[in-house]
Amino acid sequence: MLTEVEIRENLKEVEEKICAAVKKAGRNRSDVKLISVSKTNPVEVLEAAYRCGVRVFGENRVQELVEKMDYFESKGIKDIEWHLIGHLQTNKVKYIAGRVAMIHSVDTEKLAKVISDESAKKGVVTDILIELNIGDEDSKFGLESDDLANFVKNIAILPNIRVKGLMCVAPITDDPEKNRKFFNKMYKLSVDIRDKNIDNVNMCELSMGMTGDYTVAIEEGATFVRVGTGIFGKRNYGVQQ
Ligand SMILES: *Cc1c(COP(=O)(O)O)cnc(C)c1O
Repeated sequence: MLTEVEIRENLKEVEEKICAAVKKAGRNRSDVKLISVSKTNPVEVLEAAYRCGVRVFGENRVQELVEKMDYFESKGIKDIEWHLIGHLQTNKVKYIAGRVAMIHSVDTEKLAKVISDESAKKGVVTDILIELNIGDEDSKFGLESDDLANFVKNIAILPNIRVKGLMCVAPITDDPEKNRKFFNKMYKLSVDIRDKNIDNVNMCELSMGMTGDYTVAIEEGATFVRVGTGIFGKRNYGVQQ
């Protein structure tokens, strides 16, 4: 578990790298949102990050996310944007509908429908991203890119979701350049869909890039980068899983 001083240092370094990457790509800093991935860290660590100015957190498990949202709410803190970035089971959607800024991991029509239905019950429209298995990995969640166009058409009619873009978890690698082709493919797929002008679909967001490869992702068009280890240090799964 890192101290507030270490988190502040890490955030500064991440910020510098983001700025360098957007500059290199001829983009603006405001084109890219940093999601601080706080999974497995206790709320005290999130509070320290909050004091360092973090207002956008990403979590990958519903129960943990809800506990953390409840904690901050109980303290009267309301200016946090929560992103669900991990695999989501349909029976858990009801716990987060209306409480999260975005769900990044929609990869079945059934899940999209449940998110729309649960959002309707709460009187909200939920922003979602479609998760692609861009590296074609057996172990990964996400749609195959060949199925994307049909998938988008089928879920675009759901009244209480808004399709905002695409998300991927690229293969784990120690050489981020190896993932450049995947990020570039994500960008091209999003442009292809955008050109189809489907009602209710706004392919403006690309959630891609993690601690190991976010600068390359930004160069290839990421609008959200999801950084965990680079801010909070190595995760200790032994404690919470
Ligand atoms: C854990 C996680 C991240 C952050 O990974 P780091 O390598 O620690 O930056 C990003 N995206 C998803 C979906 C994750 O589950």
